[in-house]
Amino acid sequence: RGGPENLPILRAQLDSFDSPSKANSRHKPKLVILGSGWGSVSLLKQLNSSDYDVTVISPTNYFLFTPMLPSAAVGTLEIKSICESIRSILSYIGGHYLRASAEKILFSEKLIKVSSTDPETGEIQKFYVPYDKLAIAVGSISNTHGVDGIQYCHKLKTAEDALTLRKKIVENLERACLPTTSDEERKKLLSFVVCGAGPTGTEVAAEISDLLSEDIIRGFPKILRQEVSVHIIQSRSHILNTYDKTISEYAMERFQKDSIDILTNSRVQKITADEVIFNQLNPETKEVELKALPYGLCLWSTGVGQNPLAQDVVHSLTGVQKNRRAIETDPHLRVIGAPLGDVYAIGDCSTVRTNIADHTTEYIRKFVVGRHFPKHKLEKNIITDDDIKHLLLTYDELIDLSLQIAQKHPLAKENLQLMHELLPKYDSNKTGRLTFDQVKALLEEVDSKVTSLPATAQRAHQQGKYLGKKLSKLARSYDSLTLNDILDGDIDDAVAKPFKYRHLGSLAYIGNSAALDISGHSFVGGVIAMYLWRSIYFAQSVSTRTRVLLFMDWLNRGIFGRDIIT
Ligand code: FAD
Ligand code: MG
Ligand code: MG
Ligand code: MG
Ligand code: MG
Repeated sequence: RGGPENLPILRAQLDSFDSPSKANSRHKPKLVILGSGWGSVSLLKQLNSSDYDVTVISPTNYFLFTPMLPSAAVGTLEIKSICESIRSILSYIGGHYLRASAEKILFSEKLIKVSSTDPETGEIQKFYVPYDKLAIAVGSISNTHGVDGIQYCHKLKTAEDALTLRKKIVENLERACLPTTSDEERKKLLSFVVCGAGPTGTEVAAEISDLLSEDIIRGFPKILRQEVSVHIIQSRSHILNTYDKTISEYAMERFQKDSIDILTNSRVQKITADEVIFNQLNPETKEVELKALPYGLCLWSTGVGQNPLAQDVVHSLTGVQKNRRAIETDPHLRVIGAPLGDVYAIGDCSTVRTNIADHTTEYIRKFVVGRHFPKHKLEKNIITDDDIKHLLLTYDELIDLSLQIAQKHPLAKENLQLMHELLPKYDSNKTGRLTFDQVKALLEEVDSKVTSLPATAQRAHQQGKYLGKKLSKLARSYDSLTLNDILDGDIDDAVAKPFKYRHLGSLAYIGNSAALDISGHSFVGGVIAMYLWRSIYFAQSVSTRTRVLLFMDWLNRGIFGRDIIT
């Protein structure tokens, strides 16, 4: 069968002869999942083999336990210990895997255009994969901020990145020891620069510094130790500035003690083959100085950018999709603008939109109308939208309304709780009542303030789990749904509550200690914090295999130190 552009429409089918259950699965609804990261894997873990014919499409055939990537990049852990084969995860539910990238989604045809490139010949295969339900979880890409010379930098996003980084560190150490290397060249080779002091940048700087101070003494010339330097360049005044202040300050202190050079208020202008050029602002004199820092290795980790597929989805739904950085979903995680209930987006590539203001009439009708119209009118259902638009609502009614709305929009709760502060601002004539238009404008402000969710594994995991549970429920509930639910079209709403994010805290590893920021309480410390840090990730890691491997790596490192070989 020919698809659009005369490309074939194909399903993963080689394995349909493997077992009767696989052959059988062809008659089930087709669930396609794009990506094999945190969101996808958390989703997969919730599925039952009997509910869907599942296909994962991703260029990466493994799940990557990213919180441990900085450790793997410097050799504290083996890279294979933090990877988990996607095929083995899929085998539990009899799912298929295709190593390919999604390029485009045709929402009305329910097709995904995918492409797969032969790494040797560069030959590209393109085809379409059909779906009944689609989950987009393609993550984000590293942000470049349009800085020149970014190609000289390392990044840390994939397992390959960690391997290359590790190789480069060892390479620089070995080259520093060659008799042909000049003193100046040696200093440069041993200058490690990290641009960006978020959790990833900070952890890499800490790990490199630990590696150099703990392991280099064994086997390498002692002089290297004095010539090694680790620098971290940050545009703000603090490192780890999204964390609690105590953590950020602790990290700064800790880094100073470890002789890590912290360059705050510094903006990178350009990167050449040997130097990072940056502007540093002196906060007291307000003077800006242009500086150059020679480097042997430079890591760029200044945040995340939009994945090309996510960008394409947003473009193809222009007018409906309003956020420029992520795919917008409704609170049920359905992509806004795609046919309702067909397509979901989770994780870094997505954000949940709250569109409370669009439903102003509906909410007023549902929650406050009772007090304004006589009973007979209510019973006969003859209150028009126009009637509602002519109402004047009191502060008390509006606070009540906001509490009701907060039940439906948990993500907007904090903002809705500020309702009493917002009311006087919109009550321009100070009458103690708001017109419909004023209420709508107020709710628009609430909408615009609702911050999107953080780009973290924690969030992707929660969304994946939520969606997996819902899809399982959906598969089983078609029989039990009432006709009304189906006519209403909102089957998702009938089977599951909207997604609710729970912030469980943040943590970062800082030079043989860890900083935890857990529901408002911050905690920093030495060995105990480090073990707490490790045990949290222990519990989060996906399989027994990974758990065993991680444990062995730590044991190994504790006893024998890191391997400085490649
Ligand atoms: P990802 O896990 O990135 O998965 C995206 C998947 O989509 C990948 O498999 C990718 O190959 C695939 N893909 C990409 N494009 C396509 C396409 N076109 N078609 C099909 N598949 C595609 N978060 C924390 O909460 N705590 C931490 O300590 C932490 N540390 C981190 C350390 C590092 C070094 C990094 C890089 C990230 C860290 N994060 C941490 C963030 C966390 O990893 C991300 O927020 C999380 O991975 C997002 O999950 P996701 O499923 O949205 O995307
Ligand atoms: Mg994913
Ligand atoms: Mg991942
Ligand atoms: Mg994602
Ligand atoms: Mg991290």
